[in-house]
Amino acid sequence: MTIAHPPSLSKSTFLMGRQCSKLLWFRYNARDQIPAPDEAQQAVFDQGHEVGNLAKQLFPGGIEVSADVTDFAQVLQRSLEAAKARKPLFEAGFVYNGGFARADILNPVGRNEWDIIEVKSSTEVKDVNVLDLAFQAFVYNGAGLNIRRCYLMHVDRNYVRRGAVDPKKFFKLADVTKDVSGLSREIEPQLEDMFATIRLKQEPEIKIGPHCSDPYDCPLTDRCWAFLPPDSVFNLYYGGKKCWRLLHEGVVNLKDIPDDVDLTDRQTIQRKVAGTGQPHIDRKALASFLKRLKYPVSYLDFETFSTAIPLFDGLSPWQQVAFQFSLHRQAAPGVKPEHHAFLADGCGDPRPDFLHRLCGCIGDKGSVIVYNAKFEVGVLDALADAFPEHVVWIEAVKPRIIDLLEPFQAFDYYHPEQYGSASIKAVLPVLTGRSYTDLEIQEGNTASLEFLRVHFGGVAEAERQKVRGQLERYCSQDTEGMIWITDALRQLTG
Ligand code: SF4
Repeated sequence: MTIAHPPSLSKSTFLMGRQCSKLLWFRYNARDQIPAPDEAQQAVFDQGHEVGNLAKQLFPGGIEVSADVTDFAQVLQRSLEAAKARKPLFEAGFVYNGGFARADILNPVGRNEWDIIEVKSSTEVKDVNVLDLAFQAFVYNGAGLNIRRCYLMHVDRNYVRRGAVDPKKFFKLADVTKDVSGLSREIEPQLEDMFATIRLKQEPEIKIGPHCSDPYDCPLTDRCWAFLPPDSVFNLYYGGKKCWRLLHEGVVNLKDIPDDVDLTDRQTIQRKVAGTGQPHIDRKALASFLKRLKYPVSYLDFETFSTAIPLFDGLSPWQQVAFQFSLHRQAAPGVKPEHHAFLADGCGDPRPDFLHRLCGCIGDKGSVIVYNAKFEVGVLDALADAFPEHVVWIEAVKPRIIDLLEPFQAFDYYHPEQYGSASIKAVLPVLTGRSYTDLEIQEGNTASLEFLRVHFGGVAEAERQKVRGQLERYCSQDTEGMIWITDALRQLTG
């Protein structure tokens, strides 16, 4: 659908336009072709709303101007009237020169000035947040509000919950007025360019580039990147700018990278296997990795969740909370493993039960194999900090940990169909022929979101039990999968 007279640009569409004019064009001319946010993106938005509501408590007497209003003209009318009351305004909408701003909080100052306060659930100020505020300040000033200062109210990562969440301690206020002023002159000409883009009959021709994921992952990536083959130069391990250089020189496939291009050892392996279609196997290195395993071996995996507003005492914003583990213990290679598992239930802090159960089944002998030890060790360290009574056994477990990611990160084994990834999801199918595709939950982020949904989201008991079963299958496959991978490596090394 082509729009003859484009409507106002909101701050989010303005930011879209800054990221890519093709994305902006689609937003106004073919919106149905932009995929809806997935569950993970939606969860981020939901966390943002919760944090926004908490921030409003810092402005008692504030007026909720337009939270439940969808009619554009009504939003403007209500905002104009509410501004006369000289009280804090939540989501007050004003227009100027084609821009439409609706700040989280407008706070009156003195007789006729206002401060803009934009609330973010992140723990730091990002450039895109300042740009967002610059756009809003441009619109509000143009609409006749005197903007005095611009603030970003973000989450303080050092906050620790003790009892009810105290918004005064939970947030940090960053004055970004100077940075905003520096950008203000750019806004008007950019708006004009964006309206010109929106009026184009055809989508603008924009090549893919680093802007496709900066500052946000573009929802049109599948569409614009579809021309690339599965084995493209973008699979280069830590390829960075090299990938773009190669593409600009017309090199699309990994196997076509010329010999004179400077590649790391791992990237050279990638080019080689892309050409031969055969995996690279360093049997000596794999054998020496396997030699390090001391039986009985415990294959261990954790699942965690994190929320912006901590759910329990002792937690900081976005801190990982362990809620599930799976542990397969194998007495010797090829022997049927015994399985231990824990999945928290109810709405309480899962960490004490998690620790109690893990302590009871991890034993004191043999290697503990995990996939990506940085994560599991980080979780254990945080648990030891929070529950010092468990420090002794946690510290005894840590030296037993061996990372099964290591041989794949080192490219001691690399299969062309890993497509540059050393994750267990990439390694398991190529080494064992098994995969996660028949599981309802297929990766950790979904596991966290599903756990939160069915334990804190008020769902029916039948649904809760169904998802708990899915979570158990998923986490169990992570540890069983590690046994299958180890067995496969053993076979490779003879
Ligand atoms: S994927 Fe990249 S080129 Fe395509 S619309 Fe998005 S940002 Fe623009």
